[in-house]
Amino acid sequence: MKKQFAIIGLGRFGVSVSTELFQLGHEVLAVDINPSKVKEITNFSTHSAVADGTDEKALRKLGIANFDHVIVAIGDNIQASILCTLLLKEIGIKSVWAKAQNYYHHKVLDKIGADKIIHPEHDMGQRIAQHLVSDKVIDY
Ligand code: ATP
Repeated sequence: MKKQFAIIGLGRFGVSVSTELFQLGHEVLAVDINPSKVKEITNFSTHSAVADGTDEKALRKLGIANFDHVIVAIGDNIQASILCTLLLKEIGIKSVWAKAQNYYHHKVLDKIGADKIIHPEHDMGQRIAQHLVSDKVIDY
């Protein structure tokens, strides 16, 4: 079934998530504060927009309240990531997944209600390790 996702922040992680969801046939709204990032994703998203994820009015204007799933993929700017996540939960988004940079960032995201907190490098490292020791590796 086709689902609707919004991705805020189009660094390597955000672009990868957006592109995969789009190629899987889902509706994807891709958002970044940087116009050149938005231009790059145009062909790999259903809709794309230049907007500040910490600006409640801008988020509402994008119709973000209609999305069941929003992924906050803002990286280095921890303050922006936290504020954006908080606004999305206040707006009433059911499922907000956010990327954390470190343990303290994770703790704050957890407190303000992020539904899932992702540590891409850590999570991927675990998956690779599991693959390495899985039976399948013997087949290669
Ligand atoms: P990655 O490792 O996924 O490449 P990163 O951790 O290096 O990402 P950044 O490049 O710092 O993360 O941020 C990801 C994206 O978030 C950038 O494209 C940046 O322009 C965008 N971004 C930063 N602040 C905001 C904001 N307030 N609203 C929307 N997008 C933002």
